[in-house]
Amino acid sequence: MSTESLITLLIALVVIPAAVVPYLRRVRAEERRARKHFEDAKIAGLQSAVSMHPHINAMECIGCGGCVDACPEEDVLGVIDGKAVLVHGSKCVGHGLCADACPVGAIVMMMAAPGRSADLPLLDEHFETSVRNLFIVGELGGMGLIKNAITQGRKAVEHIASRARTSDGAYDVVVVGAGPAGLAAGLSAKANKLKYLLLEQGDAGGTILQYPRRKIVMTSPVELPLWGKLKLTETSKESLLELWQQVLTKTQLKVNTGEKVLDLRTAEGHFVVSTPLGEYAAHHVVLALGRRGTPRKLGVPGEELGKVTYRLIDAETYKDCDVLVVGGGDSAVEAAVGLALHGTNRVTLSYRKSEFTRLKDRNAKHLEEYRKRNAVSILLNSNVKGIREKEVQIETAEGIRVVPNDYVFIFAGGDMPFEFLKKTGIKFQEQVVA
Ligand SMILES: Cc1cc2nc3c(=O)[nH]c(=O)nc-3n(C[C@H](O)[C@H](O)[C@H](O)COP(=O)(O)OP(=O)(O)OC[C@H]3O[C@@H](n4cnc5c(N)ncnc54)[C@H](O)[C@@H]3O)c2cc1C
Repeated sequence: MSTESLITLLIALVVIPAAVVPYLRRVRAEERRARKHFEDAKIAGLQSAVSMHPHINAMECIGCGGCVDACPEEDVLGVIDGKAVLVHGSKCVGHGLCADACPVGAIVMMMAAPGRSADLPLLDEHFETSVRNLFIVGELGGMGLIKNAITQGRKAVEHIASRARTSDGAYDVVVVGAGPAGLAAGLSAKANKLKYLLLEQGDAGGTILQYPRRKIVMTSPVELPLWGKLKLTETSKESLLELWQQVLTKTQLKVNTGEKVLDLRTAEGHFVVSTPLGEYAAHHVVLALGRRGTPRKLGVPGEELGKVTYRLIDAETYKDCDVLVVGGGDSAVEAAVGLALHGTNRVTLSYRKSEFTRLKDRNAKHLEEYRKRNAVSILLNSNVKGIREKEVQIETAEGIRVVPNDYVFIFAGGDMPFEFLKKTGIKFQEQVVA
């Protein structure tokens, strides 16, 4: 071997490992991190997505990690054993950038969990269901993201406005839900001078109200009727809600907040929309209910505080906090265990009954382990009586206990929108993923 070749070989032997070893170390560290997140998310019941999320075809995935880098949400995807994995599904909001970034097309965005149907309503290009004059827009129809919800709400009502109107006293359109889709639908109805009613069970804003504090919201510019282009790309939850408020003020859009739609039926050629406050006749109905349902509330003083939520999205956000979890089902136990997992939070689980009777085996086992380690303090036969900024009052057999508190998570059941949809008689499409 010539001296030149020998020198080249020696340089290669030094340079290649110098470049490759740190790379491999980084890959291994990232895999360890992803595996840990994956295990933690499974324990906390946060592994599955509730909305649009990626399905990764493991046979096609080459494990390049392009999807992981493309995802703007932290730790949703990871590479484990050389394959991309949905690590923390509950944090996935369906941006779809992972699918775009995959060089081999191994990712498709889907609503359904593998092997399950997604309850997706059958819709035409105007978002009309199989029941004439009944429309579904936004996440309920199967498409996540703020921009899509706004666009669909606007387009559905523009289509309704193009149909002949009847001046018989009934509303031209009743919109149900005031998240991004319902607000856009309402604005479009107002812009098109339709006789409209916008009904919202809670406050205007929809799921955005449930985001964790200061959550970074990624969206694309989108046209909003009566306002113009919403020039958003990256903003915070708080700024977005402030913007919605400005839109409502400027456009004078009327939203009946705190009015839940309980029933929808047809009578004499129009719809009858029922709420606890009355019945409304409508020629068209736009359902913009989202997919997160109506959580059952405790109805106690202080429940309206911002620290009270009905869903845990990311247990890791909570560190060194006093947390109360209320409920006795799997979701409550998974949340309690997930919040106690890293040992920094002081977690109390309050349940009104005397024992947990309907838990999955693994959750019952986890709970028992955490109870023995005093990592979760369990209060059976207990009822929350009041929530204050820094404490909660819980009624127990021994009397009222006052427990320090930073956050309350309530899992007391609730209604899912699909039951409501099924009653309307609309047709669904099958989206079963193997
Ligand atoms: C944590 C988190 C982060 C996200 N981050 C982003 C992001 O960065 N970018 C992005 O584009 N998207 C994001 N999303 C997704 C986005 O929030 C949703 O896709 C969007 O809000 C869907 O809008 P929607 O109007 O269809 O439904 P929703 O926003 O869910 O609104 C539905 C509304 O209907 C009301 N309602 C339901 N039932 C009834 C009834 N019976 N009567 C009256 N009212 C009813 C509800 O109270 C609610 O206000 C995120 C989602 C979550 C959970």
